[in-house]
Amino acid sequence: MSNSSLVTYTRLSPNHSGLRKKRIDRISPHCIVGQLSVEALGDIFASRARKASSNYGIGADGRIGMYVEEQNRSWCSSNAENDQRAVTIECASDANPPYEFKQVVYDRLVELCVDICKRNDKAKLLWLGDKVKSLNYIPARDEMVLTVHRFFANKDCPGDWMFSRMGELAKAVSEQLREVPIFYRVRKSWDKPKTQIAAFTKLANAKNCVDCNPGYAVFTDTGEKVYPQ
Ligand SMILES: [Zn+2]
Repeated sequence: MSNSSLVTYTRLSPNHSGLRKKRIDRISPHCIVGQLSVEALGDIFASRARKASSNYGIGADGRIGMYVEEQNRSWCSSNAENDQRAVTIECASDANPPYEFKQVVYDRLVELCVDICKRNDKAKLLWLGDKVKSLNYIPARDEMVLTVHRFFANKDCPGDWMFSRMGELAKAVSEQLREVPIFYRVRKSWDKPKTQIAAFTKLANAKNCVDCNPGYAVFTDTGEKVYPQ
């Protein structure tokens, strides 16, 4: 099991339960209730007395910190079952309701969720919207489910701002997971697929190929001729 390569700051917290006893199939975004940096969050989680941690944290400037390795169970959601299964992410937020995130923090959250899904072989991130549905849902092998702290404790977390965007988050992440690479196809003409001599993910390489093969052209997957024009 790996950690996210998006992490640029690591300060491991003593507050965790060691290796997870469940496979990862949930992601739980939280609100920090303060526009903190990854370092300030690291200070909080370094204190044993706090008895709290998260796997990752996103600071107010969008940098990503790691406090508990992904393979370990963090102490984040007031629920053992959830924290055994969930990658937990604390996100810098306003200190008051609705605990709004800065745009850069939200964007990084999308990016981090995509990365977590990819490394855990998940093709889809789901938001079921409802506590009972979310907790009773048995995800397929390639599905990840979003859960929130307020399912487990009398808390606002992740705040109404983020809570109202959970569906949007799931959609954005799932769309990026679906993205297939674009191929630039080298053919004599789009309607003669048998004349295709190569396909490249980089346009520059496809152009080079055409330069060496007079009479050929570069087409996108939708048949648009992009070179020579
Ligand atoms: Zn929380």
